Amino acid sequence: MMSAATTRAPKLQVRNATKIYNTRSGDLLAIDRCSLDVQAGEIVSIVGPSGCGKTTLLWSMSGLHGLTSGNVLLDGRAITGPNPEIGMVFQEANLLPWRNLAANINFPFEIKGTRPDRIWIDELLGRVGLEGFGGRFPRELSGGMQQRAALVRALSFKPSVLLMDEPFGALDAFTREEMNGLVEEIWLDTQTTIVLITHSIEEAIFLSDRIIVMSPRPGRVASVHEVPFARPRTLEIMSTKEVFDLTNIIKMEIVGEQQSRYRQVSGAEAPARPART
Ligand code: ADP
Ligand code: MG
Repeated sequence: MMSAATTRAPKLQVRNATKIYNTRSGDLLAIDRCSLDVQAGEIVSIVGPSGCGKTTLLWSMSGLHGLTSGNVLLDGRAITGPNPEIGMVFQEANLLPWRNLAANINFPFEIKGTRPDRIWIDELLGRVGLEGFGGRFPRELSGGMQQRAALVRALSFKPSVLLMDEPFGALDAFTREEMNGLVEEIWLDTQTTIVLITHSIEEAIFLSDRIIVMSPRPGRVASVHEVPFARPRTLEIMSTKEVFDLTNIIKMEIVGEQQSRYRQVSGAEAPARPART
């Protein structure tokens, strides 16, 4: 007998997602039959070499662009365009420079002609430490503050899914750790389903229930790792040998794949890789 938990439909289902870009120099197969499920309330990270199709996959999940074949289902229904249930955070905060912070957060509501929930937005601003900064312009905010504003903007609609594309990649390590803690706090509170693309295996392990490793382009799901560590993931937990080992396994998968491709393409030995122990 299956339990209720295992029979519950996934929040997000990606089925055989394939995307070909038609470029001037010909067709480019970016992702090839990617399939994955994300359960409600789960945090899943996607890692993989640069150019393997992570952004392509995430944009398909958000409905920002269509797939060549395959589909993405949200609560069992195909996603065909942008959806208020899905919030997005990009690597760049993408704030409009001529609007102050409050007007930036208001902007998507103005476009849609809907009324923002002021109380919720104030709560979010307080949570990310931007209370009282509504009148500031983007140029007056640090990179970390801009990215926190982008997070507030994404959550202002109360989406049930938050998709983030290397959201903290441009931040310094310390600010990045702060942001990770913030995402964890918000997740503990709201149980938002989160898909996070990241270059940082450490960030992926800190935040995720599962980590999906993609192959080099055309991106496929190469492997899936459960992250079995208790939450909240304290510095103590993050310093254990288990975390260290998982980090290395994932790194080797990404680097190892790239090096074997390098050999195929160049016919030469790739630079020495660290010995597997
Ligand atoms: P990643 O996010 O993993 O770095 P992307 O999804 O951005 O990878 O890109 C995957 C591949 O698709 C890359 O080779 C990239 O150059 C190509 N690509 C991405 N977007 C487009 C586009 N709009 N038109 C043509 N090619 C694209
Ligand atoms: Mg990308």
